[in-house]
Amino acid sequence: MKSLLVAIALVVGGAPAYAKHHKKPEDPAAAPKKKHLAWSSPAAGPTMSGDPELIFTFDDGPNLKTTPAVLDALKAHHIHAVFFMVGEMAANKDAPPLIARILAEGHIIGNHTMTHQDLCRLKDDARAAREIDDGKKAIETADGGFTTAWFRTPYGVRCERVDAMLAERGLTHFHWDLDPQEWKHNNSKKAYDYVTKQLAKMTGRDVLLMHDIKKATVEALPQILDWIDQENEARRLAHKRRIRIIQSYELAAERLPAGEVDWLHDAAPDPVLWARAIASVLP
Ligand SMILES: [Zn+2]
Repeated sequence: MKSLLVAIALVVGGAPAYAKHHKKPEDPAAAPKKKHLAWSSPAAGPTMSGDPELIFTFDDGPNLKTTPAVLDALKAHHIHAVFFMVGEMAANKDAPPLIARILAEGHIIGNHTMTHQDLCRLKDDARAAREIDDGKKAIETADGGFTTAWFRTPYGVRCERVDAMLAERGLTHFHWDLDPQEWKHNNSKKAYDYVTKQLAKMTGRDVLLMHDIKKATVEALPQILDWIDQENEARRLAHKRRIRIIQSYELAAERLPAGEVDWLHDAAPDPVLWARAIASVLP
């Protein structure tokens, strides 16, 4: 563990090298005020393997009642996801052991702001900035300290203000491709039907958005994971490309320069242990 901590410290130390990847914000004064912007798709870039690829992400937690069931389902299928947490949820006095479990099981934790406001609609910039910075602090200190580098705006909003604030902080928004809308209808059957239908025809790489605070997610997730297993078995027998789950630490490793990945491998041979470390240096 000591060697990993050393690696983390060194990798974090190397973070400014990534600054060149972050675009300077455009001059907000020069841009039209109300221009609606969209995030690019596919959200996590194209497939690297040629297989249909899926990344699991869970927003708005942690929730003491529902998040453990999501973790159980992921564990049963050896899936490592990204959890975009809300600061005030992470600040719950009983949340630290749950956050510790999420990290120990190899998931990556990202920042989803302090109180889940629409950052483009908040009246002033300072308030919006506090949403990002306070959220980061609340999440990172909940379990004694780790660094979040991945960020997702509530409602997936984008505007010049958000672009500028993220650029200032060296962050990018981690968007999604598949949204079963279970946050709205809370209907597990609808969520299952939507996700499996999309996965059946998926050809590239998609990021799936679900919510570990929703009963519908807790109910639908094990069924979706069982469906993927059955679908992959059928595809194996038919010699078709299977749905490949991209683990969050694999996605993280893709975004690091090759030399640093090798080095991290040396420091922590089990990639599950990277969850606490690796996200901290990512663009
Ligand atoms: Zn959200």
